[in-house]
Amino acid sequence: MARILVTGGMGYIGSHTVVELLNSGYDVVIVDNLSNSRVEVLQGIGQITGKHPDFENVDCTDYNEMSNIFAKYSDIQAIIHFAASKAVGESVEKPVMYYRNNIDSLLTLLELMKVHKVENIVFSSSCTVYGQPDILPVDESAPIKPALSPYGNTKQINEEIIRDAAYADKNIHAVLLRYFNPIGAHPSALIGELPNGIPNNLLPYVTQTAAGLRQKLRIFGDDYNTPDGSCIRDYIYVVDLAKAHVIAVQRMLERKAETNVEVFNLGTGRGLSVLEIVETFKKVTGVDVPYEIVARREGDIEQVWADPRKANAVLGWKAQATVEETLLSAWRWQEHLAQQA
Ligand code: UDP
Repeated sequence: MARILVTGGMGYIGSHTVVELLNSGYDVVIVDNLSNSRVEVLQGIGQITGKHPDFENVDCTDYNEMSNIFAKYSDIQAIIHFAASKAVGESVEKPVMYYRNNIDSLLTLLELMKVHKVENIVFSSSCTVYGQPDILPVDESAPIKPALSPYGNTKQINEEIIRDAAYADKNIHAVLLRYFNPIGAHPSALIGELPNGIPNNLLPYVTQTAAGLRQKLRIFGDDYNTPDGSCIRDYIYVVDLAKAHVIAVQRMLERKAETNVEVFNLGTGRGLSVLEIVETFKKVTGVDVPYEIVARREGDIEQVWADPRKANAVLGWKAQATVEETLLSAWRWQEHLAQQA
């Protein structure tokens, strides 16, 4: 079976994708510098799958180290590139670091792909490229809006770099996966999201508040032009998201695509408000989540949800989990973390 290089494979979406790749019979080498993940994730992956992927503690922006990886694993057939800094607020404070990390790593991979004749890459992109879409649900043909943060800009720039590289070299095959809001954890509760410090994202903040680690969830605004006034997102179960990567890789290896760059929205097609998420979480777990409404967060999009029909039709992929199951999995993971502490 083919070997897949997974950069950032120790991270949240990366680790769930490694599990699905291993379960589908792929060989995996993870490259991750553990800048936002822990080495224990490997144990979780091992316990779930009974398999032990190769792991290299290397920074993807380091050309020489990455060159050694490509030489050592000469059977790499495709890359899934997750490794990136992803905190929107931090990117505003440290833009140069974000551009260096997120763009250099991709450039390094593209250079080494050429040298080592690796032709396939899946790139982790984001619905952030659409900004506030004019039409909802948003499909892949929607215009790209000016980025609201350096983080968002790196996603746009990297999509363009890949398009240019694949235009110049038709041997390169790329799939750009635009994620909506990934949440939840593996049903085993052995891997999940590990936010560093105070969480930026909604779900880890909700679960930490429910666990008593945070006093109150702050809901950023209830005066938006939405039914209950809070923002609307398309929350997608991380395991469903991970499975889409396996299908995308398979499709590339089988050369099924009509063009050498394809782009897919990965979402459920359903928008939920912040308040709906909190109420549903309380209902399925039976645990209270104290919250207060505070001012809007700068840079937040009012509402966005996916039109996932292209991924449904072309990839034969569809989000399966209900939001109830997904929220429960996030809570199980939080409970698992509490037991470890
Ligand atoms: N949000 C919130 N309180 C928090 C974190 C997030 O009310 O502590 C809201 C945020 O304003 C947005 C939604 O939850 O409407 C999802 O935010 P997140 O940061 O998880 O993802 P984003 O869509 O911004 O990338």
